[in-house]
Amino acid sequence: MSKSFEIAIVGGGIAGLTLAIALHRRNIAVQVYEQTAQFKEIGAGVSFSSNAVAAMETCDGELAGSFGPGVKSAFDKVTTANGWPSKQTVWFDYYDGMSPKQRDEILFSITSGCGQQGVHRARFLDELVKAFPAEKTHLGKRLQNIVEREDGKIILNFTDGTSAEADAVIGCDGIHSRVRSFIVGENHPSAHPSYSHKYAYRGIVPMEAAIEAIGEEKARNSCMFLGKSGHVLTFPMDDGKFLNMVAFYEDQNEWADDRRLTKMSTREDALNDFKDFGPDVTKIMSLVQPRLPIWAIFDTCENPLPIFFKGRIAVIGDAAHATSPHHGNGAGFAIEDSALIAELLADELVHTPRDIEAALATYDKVRRGRDQWLVQSSRFVGNVDAGLIPEIGTDYKKVHQEIKERYSKIIGFSPKEEAIHAKKVMHEKLAL
Ligand SMILES: Cc1cc2nc3c(=O)[nH]c(=O)nc-3n(C[C@H](O)[C@H](O)[C@H](O)COP(=O)(O)OP(=O)(O)OC[C@H]3O[C@@H](n4cnc5c(N)ncnc54)[C@H](O)[C@@H]3O)c2cc1C
Repeated sequence: MSKSFEIAIVGGGIAGLTLAIALHRRNIAVQVYEQTAQFKEIGAGVSFSSNAVAAMETCDGELAGSFGPGVKSAFDKVTTANGWPSKQTVWFDYYDGMSPKQRDEILFSITSGCGQQGVHRARFLDELVKAFPAEKTHLGKRLQNIVEREDGKIILNFTDGTSAEADAVIGCDGIHSRVRSFIVGENHPSAHPSYSHKYAYRGIVPMEAAIEAIGEEKARNSCMFLGKSGHVLTFPMDDGKFLNMVAFYEDQNEWADDRRLTKMSTREDALNDFKDFGPDVTKIMSLVQPRLPIWAIFDTCENPLPIFFKGRIAVIGDAAHATSPHHGNGAGFAIEDSALIAELLADELVHTPRDIEAALATYDKVRRGRDQWLVQSSRFVGNVDAGLIPEIGTDYKKVHQEIKERYSKIIGFSPKEEAIHAKKVMHEKLAL
């Protein structure tokens, strides 16, 4: 090992595993502590745009190949692009989801270098798990508290009565992060995400049935159906064998339990919410599984975290900036975080506890603005998609302009350039 310090990662989701792989590939000692008895993800889709794919490559670093599979090769094994050659750069084709016409025309398209890349979450996680040494993962370890010992070591105590020590802790423990509460205090408003007053039905449809229902172009390629008080997106996944559907609906009520963000619902409930939508939406919805999960969309929009680190404890991914999914980039930005933290900790000047703190302070300084912009912008775009911004409404020219500008900020980003800039910032800090 080229470094004498060891990093503890709390949480083995997309943020935790991509960071673990990125550190391991840089010869940095790292252990992952995950609360569940086995790594698990839900059976729904998640999609990535070109910024996230570039961040995966940065996670893998210069030694790509010599360590076996990395983040990018894990992703390459499971990703599904749009089905048509002419749609390879399309992120989404936008349609009027309320239109009564069956074969409606595209309002506009948003494009990016690699277009739409959809994966089945559980399969992606399986591949990430394979790219990290099993002996460095500790399952059934639910973090309870963190204390700093007099000698500077950070002690993690788990609910099963065991503990572990490390030189720094990175909380990748999701929207209800325990690590976050050690940074800002349990009673700080930002320790608790809030309800965006939207929920989402997540369904899967066999591709052949989807083609029969809405035609080949819409079924095989990613679509966004704009609507009133709701909107629906679809994209192909699993080598085009299935179509993933996410249907967002505006909720006037409060969510009953902010610790349980999912509940089971039915296809009939979904069809009832979307009964005023056009035939493309209702036909796809009538093909999803009879019982399907609803996800309450919580985020940190109303109470953003004022800082992403404290000493040698930091948070990344949803633990730092849980976002609504309307930019399709919560996981993508988590991977951007992983890439930058790994680059900073691997820097040749980082050795001592003070250096680690400087690296985490630099991560906070460089990433917090972009990460928190995503959270704010995503809420806004969710309302644009659902026709809820009065000055935009269903003026599709304005809708197009708004989404295009915001999306170009997401994809017009280079993780490598960010790392170069961040290292300069960190070197200045270390020289003080
Ligand atoms: C409906 C919906 C659709 C989405 N679509 C997209 C999309 O298309 N593209 C995209 O980029 N993003 C999307 N997102 C966002 C994305 O799902 C999240 O941003 C991403 O999963 C966050 O990953 P994470 O690793 O930070 O957190 P999580 O995936 O929540 O992982 C946290 C991990 O930490 C563990 N953990 C929690 N507490 C503890 C503890 N105390 N001790 C130990 N372990 C603990 C958990 O068990 C879990 O394994 C979507 C979100 C939703 C709700």
